[in-house]
Amino acid sequence: MKKFEYMEKHGYEQLVFFYDKTTGLKGITCIHDTTLGPALGGTRLWNYEKEDDATLDVLRLARGMTYKAAAAGLNLGGGKTVLIGDASKVKSEAYFRGLGRYVQSLNGRYITAEDINTSTKDMDYVNMETDYVVGLEGKSGNPSPMTALGAFHGIQASLEEVYGDMTIEGRTFSVQGAGQTGYYLIGYLLEAKAKKIYFTEINEQHINKVKKEFPEVEFVQPDDIYGLEVDVFAPCALGAVMNDQTIPQLKCKIVAGTANNVLEDEEKHGNMLKEAGVLYAPDFVINAGGLINVYHELQGYNREKAKRDISRIYDRMRDVYRLARENDTHTQQAAKLFAKERIKTISNLRANYIKR
Ligand code: NAD
Repeated sequence: MKKFEYMEKHGYEQLVFFYDKTTGLKGITCIHDTTLGPALGGTRLWNYEKEDDATLDVLRLARGMTYKAAAAGLNLGGGKTVLIGDASKVKSEAYFRGLGRYVQSLNGRYITAEDINTSTKDMDYVNMETDYVVGLEGKSGNPSPMTALGAFHGIQASLEEVYGDMTIEGRTFSVQGAGQTGYYLIGYLLEAKAKKIYFTEINEQHINKVKKEFPEVEFVQPDDIYGLEVDVFAPCALGAVMNDQTIPQLKCKIVAGTANNVLEDEEKHGNMLKEAGVLYAPDFVINAGGLINVYHELQGYNREKAKRDISRIYDRMRDVYRLARENDTHTQQAAKLFAKERIKTISNLRANYIKR
């Protein structure tokens, strides 16, 4: 792959390849943009078939983190690390301490955290070699309830946009996936007196947990979730669930949940939803609660302060929707404009010299 061409096209700052001869650790860290602050993004361990697959993945993921942090109002840039290897074979104390040493060598330009196939326990080893790691055991805790809380505020903003009233009470919902985030979202919606909630799941344990704890929530089969007559469909499971097959089935007014990469094709399906009169809550804005929560570790963690910041997702969503209206564009596009605008404004603001 033509790495420099790709970096130039999307404004990347740094791409670092590292190999540790003691443990066989093979990884790539990408720093996309540090205009707003240090690049933060988790470390993903994956058995990539080709080095170029890993490179492209880290480049894309790091760029996504730049937009996510910017739209969340955080003073963070976007970065990511991918490690190439089989998670069932490579993990050890030395492996993650090795990673910590490479993170440290970037001198605070990049801060790591857990991601797919890496855990808080692994990050404790990373922390033995660097301070530039968040999401540690005993600090900000499990991010999922906070991601769900952010989505709850994002749903309120979406209701306000569509109905001119953010009240959950009296509204109806369908939730796809009752895992780490969907389960908590169902809880928040019930607490706010949602009129009716449907959910779907494929994991028996998760189905039984919801049925037991929230008997008023109705289970439907996975394929039946899209066509329900509800106000809000909340995707909290997989990516690419808004596509050519599912969008024509929708009878809801709003698609707003925790899942990443909900639109199979951002341009095409963003526009399809807009044309169908369905408001789409951009994934990286509405699901930033976990990131906001972990960011607070860098400032000395305070749960109430973190929750206050997460509640501002409401305002950010309102701003994104206004931008979409003003530019007559789909909301995913508007969210990117919103993030880029913040990066540009803050960078211009710093153009004059001030002695500190
Ligand atoms: P999870 O794995 O805990 O939960 C997902 C649930 O969806 C599982 O219970 C799974 O059985 C279920 N599921 C899978 N396929 C399904 C299908 N076809 N129909 C119905 N249910 C299905 O994951 P999570 O942490 O809740 O994350 C959900 C989504 O939110 C993912 O896209 C993730 O990237 C995104 N996200 C999560 C966080 C977080 O803090 N956990 C933060 C940002 C984004």
